[in-house]
Amino acid sequence: MVYLTGAGPGDKDLLTIKALKVIQKADVIIYDRLANPDILEEAKENTELIFVGKEKGNHRVPQDEINEIIYQCSLKYKTVVRLKGGDPFVFGRGGEEALYLKQRGVKFEIIPGITSSISVPAYAGIPVTHRGITPSFRVVTGHRKSSDNIADINWNSFIEDETIVFLMGLHNIELIVTNLLKIGKDENYPCAIICNGTTKKQKVIVGTLKDIVEKSKEAVSPAIIIVGEVVNLRDELKWFD
Ligand code: SAH
Repeated sequence: MVYLTGAGPGDKDLLTIKALKVIQKADVIIYDRLANPDILEEAKENTELIFVGKEKGNHRVPQDEINEIIYQCSLKYKTVVRLKGGDPFVFGRGGEEALYLKQRGVKFEIIPGITSSISVPAYAGIPVTHRGITPSFRVVTGHRKSSDNIADINWNSFIEDETIVFLMGLHNIELIVTNLLKIGKDENYPCAIICNGTTKKQKVIVGTLKDIVEKSKEAVSPAIIIVGEVVNLRDELKWFD
C-alpha cells in the first residue's frame, strides 16, 4: 500500500493523526524538502528514508523519476509513505503520482494534509475569508510559464474582493503585481508575503501592491503571497509572532 500523505505546512503538530499512524508503521518514507524533517523522527528505527526534495535551480529528482521510485518501493515494501509538504493534491503533484501507481495496479490511499495556502495565512493572523470582506478565496500558482504569463492564469477571471493566495510566486512577484494592477486593482490594495509560515522562522511582510515588490527583497522561500482586504485583519488578529 502506498500512502500519498500530506505533512502539513511546517509546524510538526499540524500533522494529522492518520498521517502520524502510517508514518509510524512505514517501511519506507519518500519525502520532500517542504515536509518538516522532524516528522521523520516518528518513523521506526529501520525505516528507509529517501529524500527526493527539489530546490529552485537545483532539480535533484525529476517528477517522472519520483513516480518510478515510489513504484519500485511498492514492489519491495509492504507500507510505503510518500510524504509531501502541505496537502498532496494542492500543487503537490500527488495526482500524477496516484495516476502512475493506478496504471501499474498499485493500491494507494490519499491522506490529505493541512495546506499552506490557508494555514500559513492563519498563523499570520489573516483569515482567507471574512464575512463582509471577501466572498471567496482562490489559490493560484505563481510559477511562471512564459516570459509574460504565469501558468495558465486568466487574470480577468478574478472576482472583485476575492482573496488571492499565490503559491510558488515569490520569484515572479513583479509579474504578479503588474497583472493585478492591469486588471484594475488599486495600488494601495493590501497584500502580504509570509515566509516559512507556521515555523519558528516565520516572517511576515505586509505592504500594498505599490511597495510589495520592493519589500519582497527581505523575503525568503518558501513563501506565499496573499492579496486582499483580509490582510488588514492581521493588525488585530496576529497571534503567532
Ligand atoms: N502541497 C503544498 C504546496 C506545494 S507548492 C501545500 O498544500 O501547502 C510549494 C509552495 O507552497 C511554496 O512555493 C510556497 O508558496 C508554499 N509553502 C509551502 N509551505 C510553506 C510555508 N511553510 N510557508 C510559506 N509558504 C509555504
